Amino acid sequence: MAQRVLVCDAVDGILPKILKDNGMEVNYKPEVTQDELLRIAKQYDTLVVRSRTKVTAEIIDSAKDCKIIARVGVGLDNIDQEAAKLKGIRVINAAEGAMNAVAELVMSLMLSLARHVPRADRTMREGVWEKKGLKGTELKGKYLGIVGLGNIGQRLGRLARAFNMNIIGYDVVPINPEFAQEVGLIKTDLGTLLQSSDYVSLHVPLLESTRYMINAEKLSLMKKTACLINTSRGGIIDEAALYTALKNGDLGGAALDVFETEPPDNTPLSNLDNVVMTPHLGAQTVEAQKLAAHVIAEKLVQIERGVI
Ligand code: NAD
Repeated sequence: MAQRVLVCDAVDGILPKILKDNGMEVNYKPEVTQDELLRIAKQYDTLVVRSRTKVTAEIIDSAKDCKIIARVGVGLDNIDQEAAKLKGIRVINAAEGAMNAVAELVMSLMLSLARHVPRADRTMREGVWEKKGLKGTELKGKYLGIVGLGNIGQRLGRLARAFNMNIIGYDVVPINPEFAQEVGLIKTDLGTLLQSSDYVSLHVPLLESTRYMINAEKLSLMKKTACLINTSRGGIIDEAALYTALKNGDLGGAALDVFETEPPDNTPLSNLDNVVMTPHLGAQTVEAQKLAAHVIAEKLVQIERGVI
């Protein structure tokens, strides 16, 4: 019998095409609701999701024939991995798919903060030619602290090096020595990284151990002129503490692509001029979406053939 695959979120067309070409039965339902999914999950062997669909323990429990949950992306926090493990369901992702897209977004956010690009755009639209108040700084020679040197952290380090930034890094596992040598990495602990960096960019997964990793105490270690960038997951920064630090002038600026609640509900951060916000755009490029869809489709075909 053909593998029955339910695609629950919008994915690049290459994924259903590859699966169908390999004899799988694909139902593409990018708008499926949680309630509907709960009713129909039992009809499928594989569930494919991005981040919109939450694969809860209840859904996993109802998906009697499910053997694989595939995430077209990196983070697995919308999938109850414990529940999947208990049911013997394999969870796969496309770990490398988004690394360049997210790293390039971080560069654009750092440049936006350094050169006040969003503010300049806003004032221009208001008919104001505000040159004096928008004197910026350069990234060249500044210290970039990267927290979490996995796929995205390393890609960012390489891009930032091309801007002649100095790279400081902290991770809980040994850091790739080739990468460290290539960028002249200064390895250190989290406290020293926060104290020494002009920009701090977070690239860790959301786990119990990383929740509120950047809280009021950690923010107080940072330079008053420093900027904090989060493109990893909301919940890693305590947003209320961040707001207080920015409002009191204890921190230079922040750029956020991810939030504790998405979309954020009336966040006071949007009232601050030194904050740049984007709506979880990290992996939102044509190239990243295509790559992740391709990687997942190939993995599913290989699993079907018993290769991996
Ligand atoms: P990765 O697994 O390759 O790297 C994560 C690194 O964080 C690992 O090296 C790990 O050892 C390290 N780490 C874990 N806990 C840590 C801790 N307490 N202190 C320091 N380091 C720690 O992951 P990645 O692909 O580089 O992704 C990083 C983050 O980016 C994830 O949270 C992912 O969900 C997020 N992400 C966001 C977007 C977006 O659209 N904004 C897109 C893709 C990924």
